[in-house]
Amino acid sequence: GVVHRSDELVVPRARVGRVPVGVSSRRLRIVVTGGAGFVGSHLVDRLIERGNDVIVIDNFFTGRKENLVHLFGDHRFELIRHDVVEPILLEVDQIYHLACPASPVHYKYNPVKTIKTNVMGTLNMLGLAKRIGARFLLTSTSEVYGDPLEHPQKETYWGNVNPIGERSCYDEGKRTAETLAMDYHRGAGVEVRIARIFNTYGPRMCLDDGRVVSNFVAQAIRKQPMTVYGDGKQTRSFQYVSDLVLVNGLMALMDGEHVGPFNLGNPGEFTMLELAEVVKQTIDPSATIEFKPNTADDPHMRKPDISKAKELLNWEPKISLRDGLPRMVSDFRNRILNEDETKGM
Ligand code: NAD
Ligand code: UDP
Ligand code: UDP
Repeated sequence: GVVHRSDELVVPRARVGRVPVGVSSRRLRIVVTGGAGFVGSHLVDRLIERGNDVIVIDNFFTGRKENLVHLFGDHRFELIRHDVVEPILLEVDQIYHLACPASPVHYKYNPVKTIKTNVMGTLNMLGLAKRIGARFLLTSTSEVYGDPLEHPQKETYWGNVNPIGERSCYDEGKRTAETLAMDYHRGAGVEVRIARIFNTYGPRMCLDDGRVVSNFVAQAIRKQPMTVYGDGKQTRSFQYVSDLVLVNGLMALMDGEHVGPFNLGNPGEFTMLELAEVVKQTIDPSATIEFKPNTADDPHMRKPDISKAKELLNWEPKISLRDGLPRMVSDFRNRILNEDETKGM
């Protein structure tokens, strides 16, 4: 039988090869910036599986070669170490622009670099798209809604964002990236697509990524207390990565006719205390929690209204948090075990 690596998504057979009309007629050449990262590497797998030629551009700030090593040697796959803040010349049909650290810990580490990546990086990729007539997809974020005053959030909501806060390099950066995409669309006729992705989890997240799902899962496996920030009553809505990257998610948006923006997320809403409880039930019934101070400007609640994506993209997430969490545990266990062995434990 087929042997799957623990970090690869198992794709139902019926969904592989169900390629949108017009896409399969010729081998598409596709760039994925940030393709060595968590979401990017899963997307690259799907594109290669569909028969496309894929070029990954990544500076390995948070991405890892391990996420792509199974594709080395595949003639359809190419990996370029490059920083999107610098211009680049390529000839492709589509650009999936993901390059940007996504965890608050990573994007706050060098905020000026984060805003440069969002502004200059996106400008370069749009300039590239304009020159070669490629279609461009931006992975924006639910963070554009800031600490939302509308709940759940619809795409028509303009958001409540602090322009001078510690999160601004990311949320204002992504808002500017959306502005650039729309201005290249209106002004230069570039075909753009905008996805506003909500909190996503799954195999290949960095172990010490700092995001809440990866923290709780790694902590529970390592028998450390799960760190709940603040009172733990803030909410998020968690989407399993395969719902986002399977053929009818990001790829349907890219290949379809709608510009967006589209919310792509799972409307199932959890407090951080509820999330800790689900992780406890999934990994270790004896797991404990420990309260830590919260970070500045942390959004109090977040939940996508996905009616637009349902109606226009026929997209809907299928995997609940209770079903999705176990699917990332074996990948995390394997990597934590390897880490311990390397340390001689
Ligand atoms: P990630 O950190 O795992 O991946 C980001 C990738 O971009 C990494 O491989 C990193 O090395 C690369 N990168 C960063 N700066 C770069 C630069 N200047 N030049 C070239 N490469 C660069 O994060 P992810 O979770 O995979 O997120 C991917 C995209 O999706 C990001 O744009 C993020 O904003 C967006 N997004 C993710 C989530 C989520 O919950 N995962 C939610 C909303 C939006
Ligand atoms: N750019 C790039 N590759 C290309 C075309 C453009 O990296 O193939 C960069 C270019 O260096 C510029 C940005 O994209 O910094 C915007 O390009 P555009 O042509 O829109 O603007 P201009 O160069 O006229 O300022
Ligand atoms: N959080 C937490 N413990 C952690 C990491 C994060 O309680 O170890 C909280 C954080 O304060 C926020 C929520 O979990 O309210 C989601 O944080 P994350 O960094 O995963 O993503 P965000 O949605 O804030 O970008």
